[in-house]
Parts: sequence; structure tokens; C-alpha cells
Amino acid sequence: MAVAKQGVCRKIDENGKGWVEGVSFDNVLPLEEIKFDPNTKKILQRVVDAPTRIRPVCPYFSQCGSCQFLHWEYDAQLEWKTDQVRHHFKSITKIPVKDCLGTDRQFGYRSKNILTFKADGKNAIAGYYAAGTHALFDVKSCDVTHPKAIEIFTTLKQLVNSFRVEIYDENRKKGLLRHALIRVAESTGEILVVLVVAHSDFKGRKNFVASLIKRHPEITSVIENTNSRSTSIVLGNQERTLYGKGYIVDRLGDYTFKISARSFYQVHPTQTEILYQNALDAAQLRKTDVLLDAYSGVGTIGIYASKRVKEVICVESNPDATEDARNNGKHNQVSNARFICADASQWLLDTSTSSAKIDVVVMDPPREGSDKNFLFALRKLRPRTIVYISCNPETQARDVKELLTIYDIQSIQPVDMFPQTSHIECIVLLQRR
Ligand code: SAH
Repeated sequence: MAVAKQGVCRKIDENGKGWVEGVSFDNVLPLEEIKFDPNTKKILQRVVDAPTRIRPVCPYFSQCGSCQFLHWEYDAQLEWKTDQVRHHFKSITKIPVKDCLGTDRQFGYRSKNILTFKADGKNAIAGYYAAGTHALFDVKSCDVTHPKAIEIFTTLKQLVNSFRVEIYDENRKKGLLRHALIRVAESTGEILVVLVVAHSDFKGRKNFVASLIKRHPEITSVIENTNSRSTSIVLGNQERTLYGKGYIVDRLGDYTFKISARSFYQVHPTQTEILYQNALDAAQLRKTDVLLDAYSGVGTIGIYASKRVKEVICVESNPDATEDARNNGKHNQVSNARFICADASQWLLDTSTSSAKIDVVVMDPPREGSDKNFLFALRKLRPRTIVYISCNPETQARDVKELLTIYDIQSIQPVDMFPQTSHIECIVLLQRR
């Protein structure tokens, strides 16, 4: 038998794991001392607790893995997030990283969530996969998810069982119901439920939806999404509206936004406005500016900024999101915005060879960051200001480094969009020299 090892946690990595003597652990905090088995990598005893440790409220904390920090005081989470950003930027700038902007709304914020169904004997369960596994566990509560969504998930499970809806079996690739996605637009009270099915032969759909609406008249739309592929991607390409208008509308500041099932939309209702306001204030927009909103989703940032500039160009590769963005422009009577469905890099490359002028770029790419072509075209177009918003400071720092040949970093501002988790959002302001 291996001799137990003992050590102090010096670091929490980007996945929220604590490192002790070269081994990573869940549920260990900085300066905590633990005894562990070096073979099984299991914690045998926590010898010294961190003063910032708290008791997690969620019963699934030890298995779930979606919220890495439920056992950590919120202020300490924020400090860690600021530190992570510092770590990624320290080799490229001396500009101090500002403190991560936190929120009072640390729970019940997630406006979108997805549960996966699985047959469990005669009944269905619906939940998440345990961290690092493909084992699904039933979820009855989720502290970060909007409470209304949890109520509806609970009803859905009951109805699935009482209607004997056939659950999809991943191994046999047979059955019907795979997932449910719920989106809540808190500002308007609209709620979208998406039932993801493996084929379009959902016989009892009419009665099922009628019962759901009877139990939750607050639901404004129900969509059936067909996904017959056996990948981990939740939504398929085929959609049919079973109830309501098929999308929801949310309000941000003076604007309303149409959000359909497959479009990206920020999940923290109050922090979204903080993020956008900070990003746009940093940009110091002028009435004469042409603003590019690259990776624009449903056009939120561009539309939000439209009053402050001469012209807005939103570029987004997802056709559904672009269509939403276009409608959002019309609907909000924004007459100075164009919405382009294209790969942002290709579009920017093409634009950089034309005589077009862009004064300010707000870019908000996915986790993988931007790419060489986009950054090359940016350096060629030389906008006065670039505001880079990212949910991954590592790829953000990598990309920003490429721009430092002609840009200076003016500020680095992390914003907490995902309390209780190790996810970090960050705004970097760059000014042309
Ligand atoms: N700025 C928006 C969306 C950010 S999420 C908001 O705050 O809501 C990133 C967006 O980039 C997604 O909508 C995704 O569909 C889009 N995207 C991903 N790769 C892209 C590419 N190569 N070109 C253009 N858009 C892309």
C-alpha cells in the first residue's frame, strides 16, 4: 500500500482544480492542507481548511462538476478570476488588471439550461452528466439556474412519465426524447421550452404540450427540435413550433431582442448589461464612427451601441442568429446597422482589401478565440480602437499579443458572468499607437 502524502494547495487551475504536490483535486482550495493517496489520487483527510471555505448549498456538488466553486466564498472566487487574467497577461503587458466586477446575483441567474433525459427502469430521469463521465444523474434542483426553469423541468419530468413518452437510448440509438432546453427572458417574463427529439414521430405531442401549458401558463413558446445525430451536440437543425411564436424576446437597456432556440445569448441577465456598458464605455465611441461588431450573435452589442455611432456592421456566422439580429435591428428601429452572415475572418480579410474604413471593432469570439486571418486583417484595417471581449483569457491574451505591434493595451477588465464556476469573462481595450 502506498504511503499517504500530505501537502498544501498552492494553485487553482483554469478548470477549478486545486494542485497539491503535482496532483490535481476537485474541492481543494488555496492554502488548504490535505492528506491524499498518491495512487488513487483520493483525498484522505483535509488537515487544514481554507478560511474562505464554505459549505456548498447544492446536493450534487461532489458529482456534478458544472459549478466548481460552490465551496468557496464569492469574494475569493472573484479574486481568483482577477488573478487568472493577471497570469495570462503578465508576459505581454505591465498594465494592471482591474478587479473582476462581481454581482449580488450569485445564484439562480442562469437564464438558459439543458437537461438530458434517460430511462431509469419504467421512469425517466433528467439531469446532467457527472463530471468527466457519461453517467447521467437526476437533477431536482440547480442553484445557479433560474428557479422558474427548475420548476418547469420538474413538471416536464412528471409529464414525460405520465404520458409515457419514450426516452431516447444512446446505446441502441432508439427512442424519442433526448433533452429539454429552457430559456427564460426575465425582463419580459417570456419563456421558451425546446424539446429535443431523435425523430419527428412524436405522437402525443399535442396533448403533451397542452398539459405543459396548463401547468405553466407562463410558458410563451414550445419548440420541437429534431436531432437524429449521435454526437454530443444537443440541438439538431430541424425545428417546428408547437406553441407560441417560436422564440422569446428579452429587454436590455432601451432595446428588445428576439432570441431563438439556436442563437447564442448571454446567460446572466444583470451582468450582461454591466458587460456591454463597460465594453462600450471603454470604446469611447464617436458620432462619426463606423463600428464593427464581430462575432455578433443576435446583434446585441451592435444594436446597443447604434445610437452612439454613424454606422454599425454586425458579422456573425450562425444564420439563425444573423436572422434574429436582422429582426432585432428592424424591431428596434435601428436604421444605421447592417447584419452580415459570414465567417468573421473571411469577411474582414475581404474588407481589408477594399477601401472600407472601420473606426472601432468590438470582437467577442467563442472560447477558441479569433484566428490569424482575422488578426492579420485587423492590423491591415487599423481601427482606432479594438474592444476584445472573451470568455477565455488564455486565447484572448494569445490574440492580443498579435496586435501589440501597432496597438497598446489601455485596460483589462474581468467581469463575472458565471458566479460559482471557474468561467471568466474579460474585456481588453486596445488603442492604436
Ligand atoms: N457578442 C454576442 C455573441 C458572442 S458569442 C453576445 O454578446 O451575445 C460568439 C458568437 O460568435 C456566436 O454567436 C457564434 O455563432 C459566433 N461565431 C463563431 N465562430 C464565428 C466565425 N468564425 N465568424 C463569425 N461568427 C462566429
